[in-house]
Amino acid sequence: MWESICSVVIQTWHKEKAEDRRLIIRPKISAQPCVRLFWVRAHAGIAGNERADELAKRAALTKKTAADYDRFPLSYAKRVIRAASLEEWQERYAEGGTGEITKCFFPRVEQAYRVLRKTEMTSHLAQTLTGHGGFSQYLHRFKLKDSPYCACDPAKIQDVLHVLEECPMFLRERVALETEIGVIVGRGEFPTIVEDDHKRAKFFNYCCKVVEKCSKLNRN
Ligand SMILES: [Zn+2]
Repeated sequence: MWESICSVVIQTWHKEKAEDRRLIIRPKISAQPCVRLFWVRAHAGIAGNERADELAKRAALTKKTAADYDRFPLSYAKRVIRAASLEEWQERYAEGGTGEITKCFFPRVEQAYRVLRKTEMTSHLAQTLTGHGGFSQYLHRFKLKDSPYCACDPAKIQDVLHVLEECPMFLRERVALETEIGVIVGRGEFPTIVEDDHKRAKFFNYCCKVVEKCSKLNRN
């Protein structure tokens, strides 16, 4: 009899509120004049309570009834949560004051994550994607170079975008790349280029080559 009461308690425990549980259990108890309900301390070695715990555990582990909430599959819930967190991440990424150069290549954080996890990161690629590297402007900022300007033009600040897009010192490499991928190398095209596996490989190769050359020139 005790076990049948336990089973009612267990079956109703997850679904009902405490008051409802009492309403369900009370008639079962009152039908048994020898049964009384009273509070006992949990996990204190009281035999009946230990037994109830054991039955509850078994019921929870071998529960064959439907899930408490099954209006949509778990996979859908996971997808919704993932989309919401990506959106939140994107907002912080877009609004953040840092990573302006990275955003030229990857305006969307989802794209950065997806592409970069399958890309082998090298020092030159990291310098390209962050703008932190052997460029006059960056070196000047840290007092490692007298001027932030490029050797090609005393009015042009030499940052990574200048080097990749317009510096005539790397014209030969740039034209070769543009011929290969059929796209003009400019910041407006970067997000499209990195989306295409073939173009991205050629483009990153160009970036690394040019960044390496630029760093060497600035060292001399
Ligand atoms: Zn230049």
